[in-house]
Amino acid sequence: MRQTTASTCCYCGVGCGVLIEHDGAHIFDVAGDPNHPANFGKLCSKGSTLHLTGDLDARALYPELRLGKGLARARTGWDSALDHAAKVFADTIAEHGPDSVAFYISGQLLTEDYYAFNKLARALVGTNNIDSNSRLCMSSAVVGYKRSLGADAPPCSYEDIELSDCLLIVGSNMAYAHPVLFRRLEEAKAKRPEMKVIVVDPRRTDTCDLADLHLPILPGTDVVLFHGILHILLWEGWIDRDFVEAHTDGFDELKRTVRDYNPAMVAELCGIGIEQLQRCARMIGTAQGFLSLWCMGVNQSTAGSAKNSALINLHLATGHIGKPGAGPFSLTGQPNAMGGRETGSLSNLLPGHREAGNAAHRGEVAAYWGVPALPDTPGLSAIELFEAVRGGKVKALWIACTNPAQSMPDQHSIHETLATCPFVVVQEAFATTETCRYADLLLPAASWGEKEGTVTNSERRVSHVRRAIPAPGEARADWSITCDFARRLEKLIRPGQPSLFAFEDAAALFDEYKLLTQGRDLDLSGLSHALIDRLGPQQWPFPADREQGTPRLYVDGKFPTETGRARFLAEHYQAPKEQREARFPLTLNTGRLRDHWHGMSRTGTAARLFGHVEEALLSMNADDMRRRRLLDGQLVRVRSRRGELLLPVQKDDSLAPGQAFMPMHWGNRFLKGLGVNRLTLPSVDPLSKQPELKHAGIDVEKVELP
Ligand code: SF4
Repeated sequence: MRQTTASTCCYCGVGCGVLIEHDGAHIFDVAGDPNHPANFGKLCSKGSTLHLTGDLDARALYPELRLGKGLARARTGWDSALDHAAKVFADTIAEHGPDSVAFYISGQLLTEDYYAFNKLARALVGTNNIDSNSRLCMSSAVVGYKRSLGADAPPCSYEDIELSDCLLIVGSNMAYAHPVLFRRLEEAKAKRPEMKVIVVDPRRTDTCDLADLHLPILPGTDVVLFHGILHILLWEGWIDRDFVEAHTDGFDELKRTVRDYNPAMVAELCGIGIEQLQRCARMIGTAQGFLSLWCMGVNQSTAGSAKNSALINLHLATGHIGKPGAGPFSLTGQPNAMGGRETGSLSNLLPGHREAGNAAHRGEVAAYWGVPALPDTPGLSAIELFEAVRGGKVKALWIACTNPAQSMPDQHSIHETLATCPFVVVQEAFATTETCRYADLLLPAASWGEKEGTVTNSERRVSHVRRAIPAPGEARADWSITCDFARRLEKLIRPGQPSLFAFEDAAALFDEYKLLTQGRDLDLSGLSHALIDRLGPQQWPFPADREQGTPRLYVDGKFPTETGRARFLAEHYQAPKEQREARFPLTLNTGRLRDHWHGMSRTGTAARLFGHVEEALLSMNADDMRRRRLLDGQLVRVRSRRGELLLPVQKDDSLAPGQAFMPMHWGNRFLKGLGVNRLTLPSVDPLSKQPELKHAGIDVEKVELP
C-alpha cells in the first residue's frame, strides 16, 4: 500500500523536509515537505532525485571479513564480524593502550549515531581519538564562534535572510551548495530589490548573478578585506559605539590593528578596486540589518579561525547581532555537522559543547556516564589521526560513513596509510567508496530512508529523520552496529559491569544524550523524538520547560563568555601556505557542483545528475590556456608538489588569470588518479586543525598524445 513518511534530506546543511512516497519496501518518489520550516516544500536537484539513488548494486549488503592483508574479503555473519572486531580492538588496547585505536566518523551520521560513537571512544575505550570529517568542513567556524562569542552557536535563523537589508556572502557558492536557501534569498531579493547582496569570492560563481556587488578578492585575502572594511567603518563613524561599550571587549586593540589596513593597501593586497571596497563598507555601514553567510571558502584555510573572527568583528563593531535580519551565520556543509559539534564528535570536544581538555567538563560527563574518569590525553584531529596511523601509533582504525580515501588532502599518502594499517573497519552503506577497498572488515550500514534519528541544520533546527523502508540485505542502523560492537567489547575489557550501551532504539539514545546538554548553551533537554513529531522541527536551545525553540541568540546582548561580553579578536593577515612560484604558477581552488554530493557514492548512481556536468574538468582562465596553447577539451597534466592528475581542461571566464578550479566530487572510481585531493596539501589552521583544501600551487601542461 502506498504510504508517505515525512523525513529530512540527507545531503546539505539546509536540512530540507522531504516526504517519502513508498510501499513499505521500495521508495517510489519524494517531494518537498510544505510544513518544514527550512524549505516550505521546495527541494533542489539533489533532494528531488533521492528516490533515484537507491541502486542496490552500489550498496554494502553483508558483513565481509578479510583474514589477512592481500587476501580477498569473504562474507560473514554479524556475530562473527563484531566478535572478531571486539577481539582485535581489545587485544590492541591491552597491548598498546587505548590511544592505539581511533574512530573517524562523519557529518553524515545522525545525532544518535554520533553519541554512541562518542560514548564508545571516551567512556569505554578511554581514548579521545575520535574525530569527524567535519574537521574538514566546519572546525574553523567552531573556533570562530567560541573565541568571539563564547559558544559554538550560529546565532541566526533562515528567516533572517528575508529580514536583512544587506547580505554579505563570503566563500560560499550558495546557488550550488545550499540551493534551497539560495532560492529563499532570490525570492526575498525579488520582493525587496533594495536589499543589497555582496558576494566575496575569487570566482564569479552562479551565486554572483544575484549580487549588487561582487568582490573577486585574491584567494586567501579575506582577513585583509574584513580589516579593510572595519578601517572604513571606523573612519566614517559607522560603528555602534553603545553596543561596543556595553557588550564587547578588545575593541581598542582591534582598532590599533586595523589602522594599518588602509583602503589603498587593502585594495592592492586583495586585488580589487578602492571604489569597490568603499562601496562594500558603505552598504554594511548604512544597513539596518547586516547578515553575513559563509562557508568553505572561509573555513578550509590555514587562516580559517582568523578569517571567522575577523568577519564576526564586523558584526560586533556595528552591533548587527541578536537582531532580526542581522548576525554572523555560517552555513554548514553536511546534513548533521551541527549534530556532531553538539555531541562532541571532534577530538577536542565532549557532548554538550564541552571541552575534552577541561577537567571539570570531563568530570561532569564521566559522572553522568557512570565511569571513573574520561581520558585526559588530547585526541588526534583528522590529519594527525592519519599521521598516527602512518607512524604506527594507531593500529586499529574504525571509519564510519565517510570516505577519507577520497576526501582527505594529499591522497597518495592516505592510500598508503590505509593499506598499511593493521586493522581497518569500514562501516558504510555504499560498497563502492574508495575507502572500502582498504576495509579488513566491512560492515553494511543502513542509509537514508532506512533508519531513525535526528539531525541539526545550519539554523540549529533539530529535525526527525524517519525510516520508510527496511535496509537491504543485512545492513543495520549505524547506532545499532556501534552499540552492538560496544557491548561485545565491554565484555572483554570491562567484564562483569552493567552495560553502558543498553539502548533499545535511537529515541533512547537521544533521551540519554539530551540530558547532557541541560543547562548548557545548546540545552536540548526539552526535546525528544515524540515532541518533534508533535511540534515539528525545533531550534535549540529548547530547555525542558519550553514549548518552543529559540530562533535567535544573544538578543539581550549577553554572551556565554566568562565576562558575558563578546570578544574582538585582533589578528593580522597570514598568507596561504602555498604561494605561487615559477614551478607552480597557478592557484587551484576546489569546490562543489550543483548536482553532486561529496564523493558521489549516492549521486553517482543517478544518470540524471550527470546532465549538468558530465565529467571532471579543470577550469582555467582563457589567457592562461592561450599561454600554454591549450584548447577546450584537451587532456592536460595537472601537477602539484604532491602528485599529478590527467583530465580535460575547459575555458572558464569566471576565473581570474592565475587561478584554476576543479570539483571535489570525482575520485578514483570516476577519474583515474585519485581525484582532486591528489593535489591538495595537508597543512592546517593552527587552532581549528582544518586543512587548506582550497589553495594549492599547481602547474598545467598539455599531454602530447602519441
Ligand atoms: Fe537537500 Fe540541501 Fe537540496 Fe535541501 S538544499 S534538498 S537539504 S541538498
